[in-house]
Amino acid sequence: MTGLSSEMRRQVEKLLHAGHSDRGIHQATGVARTTIARHRRRLGLPSYLVTADGPACRHGHPFPENIAHDSNGWLICRECRRLHGRKQAARAYIPAQPDQAAITRAAAGDPPDRLTPRERHAAIRRLDSRDYSAAVIAEHVRCSPRTVHRARSKQAA
Ligand SMILES: [Zn+2]
Repeated sequence: MTGLSSEMRRQVEKLLHAGHSDRGIHQATGVARTTIARHRRRLGLPSYLVTADGPACRHGHPFPENIAHDSNGWLICRECRRLHGRKQAARAYIPAQPDQAAITRAAAGDPPDRLTPRERHAAIRRLDSRDYSAAVIAEHVRCSPRTVHRARSKQAA
């Protein structure tokens, strides 16, 4: 029925009894997940052995301090949920982009009410390349000449 060696099969069974997931066993042993699932069914083990009175979640986060329940009442691990949420947030993160229209407007002497420091520096850079004096640039971008000097020295650095 399976092409597993008896030694490999014993190892898979041991991990199944220890409450590891099919995926975890697959990653640890390289055995196909369908094969692992077949052994799990044969042994009559549920795919999720973690219970609230167990010592930890299947990723090793200790219970009961990490016990939580989702809105459907399923037992979930607080730490796993936190890590998962972080991963999701990191995946969804889009860095803020400077508003090009605001930079163009500022460079033309009509800055919007709110310019981010990054947009202001971009506008200063644009005017700087046209060889305007610091006072003129400051007037265009509506900031102090000191900000222009600071942006210049930051650029030079
Ligand atoms: Zn966990």
